[in-house]
Amino acid sequence: AADPVVKVAESRDRLLGGLLSPDFNDTSCLSRYRASLYRRESLHVLSSHLVSVLRRYESLHRLCGPGTSAYDRAVARLRSPSNTSDAATADQCRYLVWTPHAGLGNRILSLTSAFLYALLTGRVLLFHQPGDDMRDLFCEPFPGTTWILPEKDFPIRGMERFEIRTRESLGNALARGDDKAPQPPPWMYVHLRHDYVLRGGAKDRLFFCDEGQDAVGRVGWVVLLSDNYFLPGLFLIPRFERELSRMFPRRDAAFHHLGRYLFHPSNTVWGMVTRYHGSYLANADERVGIQVRIFPWAPIATDELYAQIIACAHGENILPRPVQEPTSSINATAAGKRKAVLVTSLHGDYYERIRDMYYENGAAGGDAVSVFQPTHLEGQKSEERRHNQKALAEMMLLSFSDVALTTAASTFGYVSHGLAGMRPWVLMSPVNKKAPSPPCRLAATIEPCFHSPPNYDCKARTKGDSGRTVRHVQHCEDAKDGVQLV
Ligand code: GDP
Repeated sequence: AADPVVKVAESRDRLLGGLLSPDFNDTSCLSRYRASLYRRESLHVLSSHLVSVLRRYESLHRLCGPGTSAYDRAVARLRSPSNTSDAATADQCRYLVWTPHAGLGNRILSLTSAFLYALLTGRVLLFHQPGDDMRDLFCEPFPGTTWILPEKDFPIRGMERFEIRTRESLGNALARGDDKAPQPPPWMYVHLRHDYVLRGGAKDRLFFCDEGQDAVGRVGWVVLLSDNYFLPGLFLIPRFERELSRMFPRRDAAFHHLGRYLFHPSNTVWGMVTRYHGSYLANADERVGIQVRIFPWAPIATDELYAQIIACAHGENILPRPVQEPTSSINATAAGKRKAVLVTSLHGDYYERIRDMYYENGAAGGDAVSVFQPTHLEGQKSEERRHNQKALAEMMLLSFSDVALTTAASTFGYVSHGLAGMRPWVLMSPVNKKAPSPPCRLAATIEPCFHSPPNYDCKARTKGDSGRTVRHVQHCEDAKDGVQLV
């Protein structure tokens, strides 16, 4: 049979309004021009300015990326800075090396933030892959070049182990007063892991102030490690304000656009996605995504969380209520809809209970409800490639939902509904192990939350509130200490 997706591909804008470059070989990355066909059409306006910024960035990356003579010269400068101090000219390529840390959702969000920082500062983004765990996960995002850092012979070693005490960090450089030295260092480390705000005296948070930006701006190579969606923090820095408002006239779709630009599952992952979708989800009239995540800092019993999920799903008409009359099963599908429910979780319990509910009872309205869960891996193993591939496949499958129910503060959920451009129903975090009331709320925005904002007042040089600094950055509903773009 003809591939229905191919037919749609011809009729719908496969480049997402100019977001994607047409300059790719289609077969090397099947998902790139196809993923959007599985989702509802995006209603979020893309600015022509962002499109031109992306095309300009692609040229820069081709000019400066690995394999070019400019890249070789820049690595040589890094290796022996003293020999080349005279070459400090404006036409040099500058780099931002991103280092993976924490779960896949966190990684995707910190990488997106790093990419926007690279766009704003004219740097080339390189992806450090210390292990095997992120190989064969994403396609190359930039045409005619690579974003993978060539590891062999790269002079800075052990970047994945950098931490708050790393000597070359921005915070430590500022504490020593190195930013006043006549010669900038050959490279600098920017530490934005969540603990950067916990150490009261550390100066790493000055990254979000002019002072920190002046210091980082002098340096040719920047290494960055973060487990956070620090992108909203860039909107707190005055020098980026004008450019950001041109790139994102509607701020609340920053991840939606940049995420759909950057993250295209490899053919291996896309195979899992399309096989699963074709087997279990494609024929439904409506697809409901339910993402259940349990955090050690927000413990809740299985019964309690299941009751919360059901209270939300029934209360908000996301799932039909179970009914006992025998006739309801006879009428199923004739009157009602075929609803496919995709559950993703590390645990199997919630899927089993929802499935049993619609096996043991009919569904109100005569809906035929089928329930699926691709994996239940029990534990998080972010250092395993197969594990990450499955996590990405499930984020993608969730992003194809028509309605979504997600767990508060989960970056896994943020990525899936951010890519979809859809506001999910959010299961609010338990309070003292109990589900709160109401059990869920429709998210205020599709934007992820920046869980560890700097909370620093750059002018007063003292503690501040990042949710009250600029109009478009406010506290998140699902994680009160965090901030998000609105
Ligand atoms: P967060 O911890 O919810 O913010 O999300 P992360 O993605 O950063 O980290 C959680 C990790 O646990 C994921 O990357 C997966 O490796 C794993 N994980 C959590 N929930 C699921 C799930 O529903 N399906 C799969 N396959 N993996 C999951």
